[in-house]
Amino acid sequence: MKEAVVTKENNGKVEIKDVEIRPLEAGEALVDVEYCGVCHTDLHVAHGDFGEVPGRVIGHEGIGIVKEIAPGVESLKVGDRVSIA
Ligand SMILES: [Zn+2]
Repeated sequence: MKEAVVTKENNGKVEIKDVEIRPLEAGEALVDVEYCGVCHTDLHVAHGDFGEVPGRVIGHEGIGIVKEIAPGVESLKVGDRVSIA
């Protein structure tokens, strides 16, 4: 999956990289993201304004379809369209 990842310099730039998705943990859902915004908060993260976070994936305002759910998830099912805040 391609993701926008904060550079190791944490200097406000991101790299578009293929990132391996780890297995789900209890209470999590995997969403096949259709669209995702990058807001000013993401720009602060990329600049390290909230602390150094090289490797952090930015973008936290998306929509998509639930692809997989882990044990403990009761409010979603595979195929649901969801928003991510
Ligand atoms: Zn935001």
